[in-house]
Amino acid sequence: MKDVYLDYNATAPVRPEVIDFVASSMALVGNPSSVHGAGRKARNLVEKAREQVAALVGARARDVIFTSGGTEANNQALGFMSGHKHFVSSIEHDSLLKSSAETQLLSVDGNGVIDLKQMESCLKDSQPAFVSVMAANNETGIVQPIKSIADLVHEHSGFLHCDAVQAAGKMPFDKQTLGIDLLSLSSHKLGGPQGVGALILGPGIDCPSFLTGGGQERSRRSGTENVAGIAGFGLATEIAKTSLDEFQQLRTLQNKLETGLKQLSNSVTVFSENVERTVNTTCFSWPELSADKLLIQFDLASIAVSSGSACSSGKVKSSHVLKAMGVDDCLAGSAIRVSLGWNTRPEEIDYFLQVFEKIVKRHTGKASK
Ligand code: PLP
Repeated sequence: MKDVYLDYNATAPVRPEVIDFVASSMALVGNPSSVHGAGRKARNLVEKAREQVAALVGARARDVIFTSGGTEANNQALGFMSGHKHFVSSIEHDSLLKSSAETQLLSVDGNGVIDLKQMESCLKDSQPAFVSVMAANNETGIVQPIKSIADLVHEHSGFLHCDAVQAAGKMPFDKQTLGIDLLSLSSHKLGGPQGVGALILGPGIDCPSFLTGGGQERSRRSGTENVAGIAGFGLATEIAKTSLDEFQQLRTLQNKLETGLKQLSNSVTVFSENVERTVNTTCFSWPELSADKLLIQFDLASIAVSSGSACSSGKVKSSHVLKAMGVDDCLAGSAIRVSLGWNTRPEEIDYFLQVFEKIVKRHTGKASK
């Protein structure tokens, strides 16, 4: 089979409608800050996208700041923390973990779910707190109990920032109902172009801009807007919103994949398999072969999957997420992430399993079960 792409959590293929829309938006001349007609057309594209992005997560359009992606949104969110004690879960993306030396880590259990008791004792000890917890993990897909986390943070007069880069567009997600104060999104995880994202603030919350200049984005992020990228992001969020039910159908493929893997070898471990996960993500380990060797085998069969963290693809490093979950080095060192999305077909999962079966046979002499 030709080019089976199962690495949607690294980046999802851009939807064809979005490609067309980005191309036609690029053909428009006009700076959104210009007052003439051409400028107003560009401005309309940006403002329409702002509404579409806000609608995906139940936010107000005026609270959306367009950024260059999830990394920038997470970095900018941290600007709000001055004067607060900062806590992040130990399985956050590096754009939060590496942004501040002052940060204190919040533990997770063996499934990667935040330890609410430890979090509460941290909040009691130091107020006011600024807490960052991601909605869904990029490596394992586990979904955090964001509403309970928000309630606890607010009981202690703190603020909650949530990185929803891997959750929005994959599951129903409402910022207000969940009680999130600041929210990060990224376009390329949900079928939009790369290099665009958003930080969404809550009412009364402001974040200092770290890009100064022309005062775009209500002086919260200077620089001429990436009009075509933003327009494509907007359309991708609208399509993701209307396709949420369809996306949930991926659960069937996830089950098929995981059942198939375990049937082919009884030494397969599927991480966090018994807790709530996004329906598109499976992180599994087959300790007979290291992740880099497994990746090569899949790559030779034209299958794209990931090992370790998505953003470190290209360099296979051990996963801080699995480490925080207490997974031993041998299992963590062979962990592979398979992530599905809007264009994944059942035959691709069949093919993936056929290739895995061959790998198992080649390395153990026979399928071990
Ligand atoms: N947050 C999470 C959970 C991610 O998975 C990623 C990218 O993999 C990011 C943030 C960074 O987003 P971007 O690639 O848009 O900078």
